[in-house]
Amino acid sequence: METPVGDRSLGVRSLVPVADARAYVLDRCRGLAPVERPLDEAGGLVLAVPVHAAHDVPPFANSAMDGYALRAADTAGAPVTLSVVGAVMAGETPVTPVGRGQAVRIMTGAPVPGGADAVCKVERTRPGDDGTVVVEATVSVGDNVRLPGEDIAAGSAVFGPGTVLAPSHVGVLASLGIETVTVHPRPRVAVVATGDELVGGSDPLAPGKIRDANRPALLARLRADGFDPVDLGRVGDEPAAVAAVLAAGAAASDAVLVTGGVSVGDRDVAKAVLADLCGDDMRWMQVAVKPGKPFAFGILASTGTPVFGLPGNPVSALVSYELFARPGLRRLAGHVAVDRPRLAAVALADLRRRSDGKLHLVRVVVETGPDGCLGVRPAAGQASHQLRAMAEADALAIVPDGDGVPAGGRVEVLVTDANRVAGPDRTWP
Ligand code: AMP
Ligand code: MG
Repeated sequence: METPVGDRSLGVRSLVPVADARAYVLDRCRGLAPVERPLDEAGGLVLAVPVHAAHDVPPFANSAMDGYALRAADTAGAPVTLSVVGAVMAGETPVTPVGRGQAVRIMTGAPVPGGADAVCKVERTRPGDDGTVVVEATVSVGDNVRLPGEDIAAGSAVFGPGTVLAPSHVGVLASLGIETVTVHPRPRVAVVATGDELVGGSDPLAPGKIRDANRPALLARLRADGFDPVDLGRVGDEPAAVAAVLAAGAAASDAVLVTGGVSVGDRDVAKAVLADLCGDDMRWMQVAVKPGKPFAFGILASTGTPVFGLPGNPVSALVSYELFARPGLRRLAGHVAVDRPRLAAVALADLRRRSDGKLHLVRVVVETGPDGCLGVRPAAGQASHQLRAMAEADALAIVPDGDGVPAGGRVEVLVTDANRVAGPDRTWP
């Protein structure tokens, strides 16, 4: 069946829009089968089933303040003197009920004693004579009392499938006594770098060789994005070797990233191997984007493992990961929202370009712009081999085909490293 997206015969065809390439990938990536995980490993994972509350939270009426539990009606003529008939601390069970004209000393989180309908905070009281307290302010029924189920009612649906478990969700689940959750597992993602020119680590740089930057960069990127990286090492431009490492990767992971060998060079073997090993869904594409034009995607016929063929140029590899691999991998992880935030920013310098039928993704440094809004400045060095300039950048500015964006103009940015973006020291209101 002919599809308009990419090509299986590996011939060069027309450019594929980013949106089509992305949709092609997303259509073929499904949430991994749910598993049971202990709560302390669940942060960042996506819930696969709804969670219901087995009991109220808070489980009992308790005090929101350190003070005195009392009957609100007794404070009508404040200041009033009440006799203190007991004390209750957090974790204790109150023994003494509060009668008319009486109060019980109470700490935050302690159960409100029978008979009391409000708590007066200690700052509104002073000690009286002979075991009494003087309440200086009128208190209304319910003041400073946290009612059972006020946060979560027993039996209620707390979180639904698709919920990304943030630290606060983990806290809520813990408050309900939940020790394990049914989630989509964290995808294990294998990375292999292809290329006869690659050496690793600090190995000598023989003539014509370069060091492998892609694999370490992608492994770090995967970890930062909440996936479990699996290192498959490097492999030369030899079809049998590439095929063998892909098979090893499929056995050890839920998805494979392969860099290099997906362009139009004589030794671009990765795309040919993918065409051999993947089913009819395999596509090699020339995407209408710069950097990141060559891209291959397929599902290994033997295992059903998605394989993302990323370009060899290091900047292109990371950009292609952002556009196609990361959204697909987030689908495997069960995420409904698969994209990074796209924010409106002001260009603090020209983001000029010429028209070439492609979307340009400019590596930009995020700064606080005029009036405190987001501002962006291009990193120095925008060629696809200039990884150092990308290291300087926190975001990709999305510059559509045309003349670009002049300084002062609006531009949309994909914030790839939000936790690096720091604001200048500002005074707090
Ligand atoms: P390719 O996509 O295999 O044609 O490679 C494109 C460019 O990226 C070439 O200059 C390669 O030497 C370079 N390259 C490929 N793989 C890597 C890698 N793992 N680390 C750094 N550069 C690479
Ligand atoms: Mg190569």
